[in-house]
Amino acid sequence: MGRKFFIGGNWKCNGTTEEAKKIVGTLNEANVPGEDIVEVVVSPPFVFLSFVKALLHSNFHVAAQNCWVHKGGAYTGEVSAEMLVNLDIPWVILGPSERRLLLEESNEFVGDKVAYALSQGLKVIACIGETLEQREAGTTLAVVAEQTKAIAAKIPDWDNVVLAYEPIWAIGTGKAATPAQAQEVHADLRKWIHDNVSAEVAVTVRLIYGGSVNGTNSKELAAQPDIDGFLVGRASLKLEFVDIINAATVKKN
Ligand code: PEP
Repeated sequence: MGRKFFIGGNWKCNGTTEEAKKIVGTLNEANVPGEDIVEVVVSPPFVFLSFVKALLHSNFHVAAQNCWVHKGGAYTGEVSAEMLVNLDIPWVILGPSERRLLLEESNEFVGDKVAYALSQGLKVIACIGETLEQREAGTTLAVVAEQTKAIAAKIPDWDNVVLAYEPIWAIGTGKAATPAQAQEVHADLRKWIHDNVSAEVAVTVRLIYGGSVNGTNSKELAAQPDIDGFLVGRASLKLEFVDIINAATVKKN
């Protein structure tokens, strides 16, 4: 079976109840391919998760933007994997660049988070990616391989993991990786997984791209053989998210 196209919409720390209602309304009314073609997962802030989940059509799903690294308890301000499971939230985004950079989440910490979330039954969108400095120094593959290795070392299998390659220099900058740049890293990463995890995981794991994806560049990016979807930031708050979802049809041609 092929890798089903995956589109995540990360709202980050944005939105009001009214805005959430509007975005969901747009999605529910949109003319997009069905779940047999594309898996769509939107990720509002924690406070809107249940609200959005209740409003969304059943062919769209939700993800939390984080969860605590272990079992819940005396961790003020945190949300545990158990709580997400209790609320029927199927997905969680872990390791996004903002948390790695601003909150200094290390590769090992992200690996522990992914492992714990999976152990509780959540599905994980795990984010990796290099800085501009690292790219210019020619260390892109080494950086993303190290980030992936820290996850691989902690998890029993990759069945419920989508790996999001998000070059930090492309996030929120309007300067997306070119299709060739993104394809190159995805192909290298898939080969690294083949050599260091297994041939089977290399074929089945979905590698999605994130970084200034929009309604215009999504089709050409989607056409790349090793790009299995997108993690979308700003554009997931706008009408063009529908065009990005429709880019999944490129894979059918
Ligand atoms: C992101 O942060 O996951 C992201 C890709 O943001 P944007 O699409 O806004 O660049």
